[in-house]
Amino acid sequence: MEKSFSESIELVKNIYKFSSEELEILEKVDAAAGELVASEFDHYLKREVNTDALAIAKKHGILGLPIDKKYGGLGVNPMISVLAGERFGQVGLGFSTFFGANVMLAGMAVQNWGSDEQKERYLRRLAAGDIIMAFGLTEPDIGSDPMSLKTSYEKKGSNYILNGSKYYISNGGIANAVVVFARSKTNPAEISAFIVDTDKPGFKVEMELKEKIGLFTSDTGMLGFHDLEIPEQNILGSLGNGMLVAYSSILYGRLGISSACTGVMEDCLNSTVARAKERIQFGKEIGKHQLVQEHIAEIALNIERARWPTYITALRAIEYLKSPSEDLVRELDQRSAIAKRIASRAAWESADHAVQVFGGFGYSLLSPVGRHYCDTRVTRIFEGTDEIMNLKIASHILGKGFRAF
Ligand SMILES: Cc1cc2nc3c(=O)[nH]c(=O)nc-3n(C[C@H](O)[C@H](O)[C@H](O)COP(=O)(O)OP(=O)(O)OC[C@H]3O[C@@H](n4cnc5c(N)ncnc54)[C@H](O)[C@@H]3O)c2cc1C
Repeated sequence: MEKSFSESIELVKNIYKFSSEELEILEKVDAAAGELVASEFDHYLKREVNTDALAIAKKHGILGLPIDKKYGGLGVNPMISVLAGERFGQVGLGFSTFFGANVMLAGMAVQNWGSDEQKERYLRRLAAGDIIMAFGLTEPDIGSDPMSLKTSYEKKGSNYILNGSKYYISNGGIANAVVVFARSKTNPAEISAFIVDTDKPGFKVEMELKEKIGLFTSDTGMLGFHDLEIPEQNILGSLGNGMLVAYSSILYGRLGISSACTGVMEDCLNSTVARAKERIQFGKEIGKHQLVQEHIAEIALNIERARWPTYITALRAIEYLKSPSEDLVRELDQRSAIAKRIASRAAWESADHAVQVFGGFGYSLLSPVGRHYCDTRVTRIFEGTDEIMNLKIASHILGKGFRAF
């Protein structure tokens, strides 16, 4: 097992008792991550989506990590998901984003809100790696303010007609099904979630965004819906509870990002330590220059800043699953925002420290730290920007009446 991953597991043993089955699952995660490294590197350099990632993840049986065993998943709890996310983050944020959108956002939205029939139809194939899913909330004119979304639906017989666009959707160009949020044309206050099958007439991938500044191995699609007919049985949850579906799913998505960012920082630290021990300047290893040691210390501090809020949030999420309550939802909302806000900024700063230690080679996509540097920037934007996280955290503390957005 990768050394820093086994160290994380040892650390977590102080606050969580693993079953032998969970430890075996984490071995599988580690094996999958180990095999993903070469293909992520290869596709990254070609600046293309990693078309091998699904097959590798499928081979190791890790696509159903948090999915109920009843639907062919492994049924792990949030602590195991967080550790798996950390290991995937070490490989790079491209795979983490693919996995996050597919399983943690779209898959978990179906698991938490879907009917038995929807779970049977989508989750079983998702866990088996036979379909890919995506989560479509953002639109050309709305991002931070999803309550203003414009994609619309209208009832026609027993179907719903969907019109609109969703932009910057991870896996959007490769998904078989997308969880889409839309507003009722006849009752604009009503926002609902639908599962949209992408092989239906009226669904169009308008563009796959290639001109990103990183995250090349993850697909980002711009989607169009043109009089797309959705059967009634594809409503996710019930009509009108779309924002509940969205916010509860993003809460777990944010936890996934904070764990992936912790993994990115571990890889930055491992790579930087190795480089500092082998690169000689002024007649000695650069790791013997004190200013280089400062960069290493900063990365190590960032890892500790990020991992504990992530682990504690995972433990609280386990409590929530045992006995759900409104108070725990509010607490999780706050904790996941704090974890995401700390970890995403820390990962971006750590990648910068790592690039500095690598010198010229760091400013290259051939170095792992150069790739992390390009990829980490987006974690301060997607699933809630730094600013939105700060406003959310502060207004939670200030109390009712202080919501700033
Ligand atoms: C690679 C990538 C993958 C993505 N994947 C998905 C996905 O799978 N599904 C999905 O639905 N979306 C996805 N997104 C979209 C992402 O979630 C949005 O980009 C993000 O929520 C920000 O929205 P925006 O880009 O419209 O920025 P805007 O909302 O226009 O914000 C612009 C700036 O204004 C600031 N701002 C806005 N409102 C306030 C306020 N009230 N107070 C202070 N500052 C404010 C923001 O913080 C930001 O700095 C992805 C984006 C990228 C880049």
